[in-house]
Amino acid sequence: MPEGPEIRRAADRVGKAIAGRPATAVSFAFEHLKRWEPVLSGRRVERVDAWGKAMLTRFEGGLVVYSHNQLYGRWYVRNAGSLPDTNRQLRFAVHNASKSALLYSASEIDVLEAEHLDAHPFLAKLGPDLLDRSLAEKDLRARLRSDAYRGRQLAAVYLDQGFLAGLGNYLRAEILFLAGVHPKARVKDLDAAGVRKLAKATLEVGQRAYATGGRTLDERTFARVKKQGGTRRELRFFVYGRKGRPCHRCGTRIRRIDAGGRHIFFCPTCQPR
Ligand SMILES: [Zn+2]
Repeated sequence: MPEGPEIRRAADRVGKAIAGRPATAVSFAFEHLKRWEPVLSGRRVERVDAWGKAMLTRFEGGLVVYSHNQLYGRWYVRNAGSLPDTNRQLRFAVHNASKSALLYSASEIDVLEAEHLDAHPFLAKLGPDLLDRSLAEKDLRARLRSDAYRGRQLAAVYLDQGFLAGLGNYLRAEILFLAGVHPKARVKDLDAAGVRKLAKATLEVGQRAYATGGRTLDERTFARVKKQGGTRRELRFFVYGRKGRPCHRCGTRIRRIDAGGRHIFFCPTCQPR
């Protein structure tokens, strides 16, 4: 499933095509949403936001189309009226004079009023967005130390959308690696410096993955691994998907364990227990 940085990049791409312009036509595949087609058609799209793994297409007049791609949803942007060659099902479309933004295969789509977004059953449970630039490191430290999270294993906290929206499996592994903490450690096991390092790594990894399109290696490591002829995956991640490969920092073989029902990758030397 795409994680926060990928969804935000998709929102940027869709926003570039449709934000700030009137939608000449809006269509939905689901019967219960069809009544919104004439309501939204002709309205200007104000902007397209990501909130965790959800996307919010905001129309003038306070109406918002909420969509969640789940595993299969995919956005396409095409010149107005041209459709991609795909067997997927078109679920939501916004057309304007020059572009069409088309959402295929997503099963969760709804039309909401902006003022009631917080009451949506999915959005209500989300924590702050990982990529929200107003999320300060000190607020994140306070969140980590709060009763809700301090006693739980970091492997679980770092998949919890209520902790931070947009986290997923690769971000979890990469953040914990850069913070130098074992996936089974808890916040209450860390000293003040450890919590600071974790909060810093969290924000850095999220922003870097967003800026680079899903790479978490810093520039220096990237340049070094590239010089050594690293493959695409070797050039993307420190640990994620690299079981048995040497750690980019220390050469120890990366291990994979099951945590929270999903694989987590870590370096036993850089992330001691
Ligand atoms: Zn290592």
